[in-house]
Amino acid sequence: MGVPRFELLEPDSYEEASRLISAHDTIPLAGGTAIISMMRQRLFNPSHIVSLHKINGLGDVSPSKSGGLSIGAMATLRSVEMHPAVRAQYPLLSETLSTVANVRVRWSATVGGNLAHGDYRLDPPGALIALGASVRLGSARGERALRIEDFFRGFFDTAKEDDEIILGVDLPQPDKNASGHYLKFTSHASTDWPCVGVAVYLKGNSSGKCESARVVITAAAQTPLLLEGVNENLSGEMISEAAARKVAGLTNGQLDPIEDASGSAWYKREIAPVLVRRALLEAARRNPKIRS
Ligand SMILES: Cc1cc2nc3c(=O)[nH]c(=O)nc-3n(C[C@H](O)[C@H](O)[C@H](O)COP(=O)(O)OP(=O)(O)OC[C@H]3O[C@@H](n4cnc5c(N)ncnc54)[C@H](O)[C@@H]3O)c2cc1C
Repeated sequence: MGVPRFELLEPDSYEEASRLISAHDTIPLAGGTAIISMMRQRLFNPSHIVSLHKINGLGDVSPSKSGGLSIGAMATLRSVEMHPAVRAQYPLLSETLSTVANVRVRWSATVGGNLAHGDYRLDPPGALIALGASVRLGSARGERALRIEDFFRGFFDTAKEDDEIILGVDLPQPDKNASGHYLKFTSHASTDWPCVGVAVYLKGNSSGKCESARVVITAAAQTPLLLEGVNENLSGEMISEAAARKVAGLTNGQLDPIEDASGSAWYKREIAPVLVRRALLEAARRNPKIRS
């Protein structure tokens, strides 16, 4: 089925885009990988669409003032995955992006479109939350920033107001003593949405032990889940098989999986701790400081 007719508006600033969205009660268009298929299925039939493609600088990836990296909302997933600074300083993000769908989708899909979509199964928020990233939002009313874990509020529900545009994502300064791993389990083909995904980010200390750790689980609750109690169990400890099993056990009671085509709620509860244990051990193996 074709896409229904609509008028394309192409503002050159995010403030103007925000005004147009309010005036026409519509939404922005980025890579179109989610919107266009929804329009084809007649799930969404707008008279106007506001393209973000002519807004200058919205796709840039550049060092930030705080020593980290700013990724513009219109940067495609593939361009970020392949960006030399991302590969060198934030390999966890590059690894995670490489697992999203296929190269064709990743060349169109954008970072902002991915977050705004708000799907509970998205892969990139796992790495972004583990890395401590924040999201910048802008509208005709001004700008604000939020931690990514506070951006996702519920099932396909985010903290973004209707007239707000995602401007980009800010990553904190990279840490030479850190390592990460994203482990995605798919039930059918490797290019599928995750049944469950686990992102781990570990910092090591000079005694060869764990200084701090973040574990984020995707597709196993209504929003990406930052596992609670991880630091209490790992800070100052060796990352042994026993320690990894203990942290995996924390999933008990914290998950709230939605049954979908990739697995039942029961299956997701069973597979999540296995993935957490394996992802933690692999992240520790990759860490230059942590001794196993
Ligand atoms: C075949 C296929 C397989 C996929 N598999 C996966 C997968 O395995 N893992 C995964 O994580 N994702 C997967 N996806 C989802 C994909 O990542 C999203 O469709 C994509 O990231 C959306 O980005 P986009 O730029 O195409 O957004 P669009 O389709 O243009 O927009 C999506 C939504 O975001 C809004 N929006 C877009 N940009 C902004 C912005 N800057 N500010 C505010 N709102 C905005 C739009 O209004 C719309 O509501 C898959 C998609 C397809 C088509």
